[in-house]
Amino acid sequence: MTDLVVEELTAGYGDARVLHGVSLTVGQGEICAILGPNGAGKTTLLRALSGMIRARGTVTLGGADLTGRSPDTLARQGIAHVPEGRGTFMPLTVEENLRLGAYVRRRGADVEADLDRIHTYFPVLKTRLKQAAGSLSGGEQQMLAIGRALMSRPRLLLLDEPSLGLAPLVTRELFRIVQAINAEERTTVVVVEQNAHLALGIAQQAHVLETGRIVLSGTAEEIRADEQVAQSYLGYR
Ligand code: ATP
Repeated sequence: MTDLVVEELTAGYGDARVLHGVSLTVGQGEICAILGPNGAGKTTLLRALSGMIRARGTVTLGGADLTGRSPDTLARQGIAHVPEGRGTFMPLTVEENLRLGAYVRRRGADVEADLDRIHTYFPVLKTRLKQAAGSLSGGEQQMLAIGRALMSRPRLLLLDEPSLGLAPLVTRELFRIVQAINAEERTTVVVVEQNAHLALGIAQQAHVLETGRIVLSGTAEEIRADEQVAQSYLGYR
């Protein structure tokens, strides 16, 4: 079943248009990878989907028309965005950051149970609850950012460059956890990632974005097999 439908999305900054009519669909509970060179507009696409910047075109999630909605409405509709650079509140503790993630939830929602759920995905966070977020390692901060996003019980998780600045071992662990979250919660995931190997390793489908346009779409297998992708993003052939 299709969950996210994006049609003819255009967006930019001031007079500079960055996205030129992006259309894609993501199935419910699927992981979709967005690949592409620096400056292609990958971050801009996620910003448009979470309402951080204005966009034209249409966006529906689970059949609900979300076109032009404000970021808080989109958050309430189930979109959680983990931005590049993570967006955690450094002076606040790990626990405070996690609890903030539940702010879009209805009153009386079972926040304590959700904290426990997040600790099962990220056991290290449980041992750091009273520590300032700013004192965490890069990998732990990325885990916190994803954990915070999960506190809103998102239907759609947008991840921007989760591997940025992390050691390969930490990155692999992080992707394994994202895959577990997707499998257990059936959360639909759109992940922007420079590390195409890793992204294609967990995604069912992928799109290549170049200068604001999707130039190639297919299953992860198809994208991996593409000669051009192999040369540009996978570093072989
Ligand atoms: P990268 O992998 O380098 O992060 P990207 O594919 O995510 O690249 P974007 O960050 O979406 O690309 O940037 C696309 C274009 O939009 C670039 O030309 C960039 O300079 C421009 N841009 C990004 N953010 C802003 C901003 N806040 N104001 C103005 N221009 C911006």
